Amino acid sequence: MSYEFTLIPGDGIGPDITEAAVKVIEHAGIKIYWDVQSAGLSAIEKYKDPLPESTLDSIAKNKIALKGPLTTPVGKGFRSVNVALRKEFDLYVNERPAKTYKGIKTLYDHIDMVIFRENLEEFYSGIEHYIDSSRSAAETIGIVTKRGCERILRYAFDYAKKHDRKKVTAVHKANILKYTSGLFLDTAREIAKEYPDVQFNDKIIDNMAMQMVLNPYQFDVIVTTNLFGDILSDLASGLVGGLGMAPGANRGPEISLFEAVHGSAPDIAGMNLANPCAIILAAVMMLDSIGETDAAVRIEKAVAAVIAEGKNVTRDINPDNYVGTKEITNSILRELDK
Ligand code: NAD
Repeated sequence: MSYEFTLIPGDGIGPDITEAAVKVIEHAGIKIYWDVQSAGLSAIEKYKDPLPESTLDSIAKNKIALKGPLTTPVGKGFRSVNVALRKEFDLYVNERPAKTYKGIKTLYDHIDMVIFRENLEEFYSGIEHYIDSSRSAAETIGIVTKRGCERILRYAFDYAKKHDRKKVTAVHKANILKYTSGLFLDTAREIAKEYPDVQFNDKIIDNMAMQMVLNPYQFDVIVTTNLFGDILSDLASGLVGGLGMAPGANRGPEISLFEAVHGSAPDIAGMNLANPCAIILAAVMMLDSIGETDAAVRIEKAVAAVIAEGKNVTRDINPDNYVGTKEITNSILRELDK
């Protein structure tokens, strides 16, 4: 079977790591015609638009996209294209697994948790402005809806059930944000009753951050609102050795977009230093989603073997003895041949 999906190489290290992912998928025997499209800074250079219509049309048609990281100017310039893509395609689920791989120095071994972050609401709605002409104060509006809470919570519980995960933890700040976070917590308690076989508890975000560092083994599936999920998933990446091994999926009712958790890493762009494993693991999630489970398992095993051997790993994994993006990719390809 062959597929047609959208490929957005992205900015900074994006083109190098997406090229690596495409090679690995092809080497695993999966035939994909990639409709290559632009977004972010590279799209501004080409089309004077960070999110051209042709990119949106391609994703709408193909339903699945693999996306490199996109640069978002801090505090000025165009709004996040990542946020715009999520809104455009109703990608309300942000799924970020955090798993330890042998060979990577971490505080803990055998971590295996999944964070589900509501991807569209609350403080990422982009409803913000200065409240006076001298710009001495600014306001942002975080809207949380019952429907938004219900669907992300249900997704997390369904995932737990399907993947034989034992426990779901809902993370909130309902003691202070009594309405927005309160709505999320109340809904979590309601939905939990529909899943009597899955254990449920809740944690306040600040305590949660500490608990994850002190004893991550108490967590299995974590579900939370947008901003908390953004921060906790980076914390979880830190627990498993950094951003280089952290993949993510943005899922909606019809369309899914797969990417690495990390950004465009402008500090190492074009230097053959980027670790391609996160986007390769995102491709593993993509293949798993379309039922190409055998290829997904083989690719993940190949990545794990290269990392465990430790001879051909990138600088973020071993700063004293490292190879480049191209070389680690070739090692993964060789491992797939075994
Ligand atoms: P970043 O993730 O790009 O980089 C943080 C640090 O991690 C840097 O030192 C970088 O060199 C390193 N790093 C990141 N990915 C790496 C990899 N694959 N291999 C080796 N080292 C890696 O975060 P940032 O510097 O805060 O953001 C840079 C840009 O990326 C910003 O414009 C930001 O908005 C954007 N961003 C995009 C996404 C996305 O497209 N999904 C996500 C996060 C950040």
